[in-house]
Amino acid sequence: MLNRIDQLLESYREEMIATLQKWVQIPSVTSEAAPGAPFGVENRRALDVAMEDCERMGMKTEIFDGYAGHADLGEGDDYEALGILAHLDVVPVGDGWTVEPFGGLVKDGKIYGRGTSDDKGPAISALFAMRAVKEAGIPLKRKVRLILGCDEEQGSSDMVYYKEHATMPRSGFSPDAEYPVINIEKGGCHLMISGKQAGLKVLEMNVGERANVVPGFASALVEGNKALAEKVNAMAKELPYPVSARMENGAVRIDTVGVTGHAAMPEHGRNAIGQLVLLLKDLGAEGIVGLLADKIGMTCYGENLGIAMEDQISGKLTCSMDIIRTEGDTVSATMDIRYPVLFNLDAALSLMQSGMEGYEVVNLHSRKPHYVSADTELVKGLLDVYHDVTGNEKKAIAIGGGTYAQSMDEGVAFGAQFPGEPEMAHQADEFLSLDSLFGSAKIFARAIVRLAGK
Ligand SMILES: [Zn+2]
Repeated sequence: MLNRIDQLLESYREEMIATLQKWVQIPSVTSEAAPGAPFGVENRRALDVAMEDCERMGMKTEIFDGYAGHADLGEGDDYEALGILAHLDVVPVGDGWTVEPFGGLVKDGKIYGRGTSDDKGPAISALFAMRAVKEAGIPLKRKVRLILGCDEEQGSSDMVYYKEHATMPRSGFSPDAEYPVINIEKGGCHLMISGKQAGLKVLEMNVGERANVVPGFASALVEGNKALAEKVNAMAKELPYPVSARMENGAVRIDTVGVTGHAAMPEHGRNAIGQLVLLLKDLGAEGIVGLLADKIGMTCYGENLGIAMEDQISGKLTCSMDIIRTEGDTVSATMDIRYPVLFNLDAALSLMQSGMEGYEVVNLHSRKPHYVSADTELVKGLLDVYHDVTGNEKKAIAIGGGTYAQSMDEGVAFGAQFPGEPEMAHQADEFLSLDSLFGSAKIFARAIVRLAGK
């Protein structure tokens, strides 16, 4: 039975590559809404094309107003179906590409392009896994439902819509992270701290675009003269990171370079806002800027905020200051916090507030932690098939990122990045190795047989 599936998957190889190329060539970066296309016309086109491919391979498909679509294999209750959730939207291209981002170039065993690894490639692996199970004639005891969404990168409103208009399976997986199985996703919150300036006056500071990206560059225009600029440039020689200052319109422009990264792992980046506020404090900034320097600065785990916490299953709380803006006399900074399953967010917020008299702390948006027991059939089954194919260790792990897995009561992230592979999501020259594309299809087909086969 598994032999037959492997033969079929082998025979699909060229078609899998061609299909992924076709999907990658659609630049499904979220843009302005249009009728039937809530995340832009390209995202809608990606959904239409993907659903046509599913239909052609014998799945029953339905599209939900351009938010998401599903492709069903087999019969049975929708809620009891095995859900497989992936997304068709991609993040903007960004700088630093040496190949065409929407080209789908195949070279040296890799396919290049925005979305190849996050998340169109894994979606293709899942689709062809379903097709192999179907063509091998494997009888199913429950339906398998592939759900493809168009708004994962900007908050997963597509899954909220989907749940209102269709039945979300109770249990399943999302191949939008890494192997082995991720059964814990930390809670998340975006916290804004604001207040008045004092001391050295910052005239303008406007750093960071997204609350979940550690900024790699920060800049401020501060009140001062040539002597101040010279002082900063002298101090820069002693600092462990690049800083420079120059005169601009009768004020001092200060720039500092950090290392950009993902807010879920702030220790892998070097926060340029942290560098900047520490420097400004050294130069005489008090008030809100001094507070941000003292309470956050270059810390990654909320230690100076009094909210550092760690539990055995989810690891450390992380805190990353990713946006800072001036508005007249007021400065506001937005923190991305990822917190462990056992953390009490409300208690922590009131604790923080009481330590910051005169400043405003606002919870802009939060997401509960998500946890699926490692003892469930789902997790055990996925770990078994992963081990069968790769020989790798069976273990369930925690991450700080939120995936579609949270949309299912019993949802986990599963793949599709293999251990030892570079993290390509959101990077320049994003690629997926063909071995991973085919390897994931093999794993997913076994997962379907294991969890939905008779
Ligand atoms: Zn993704």
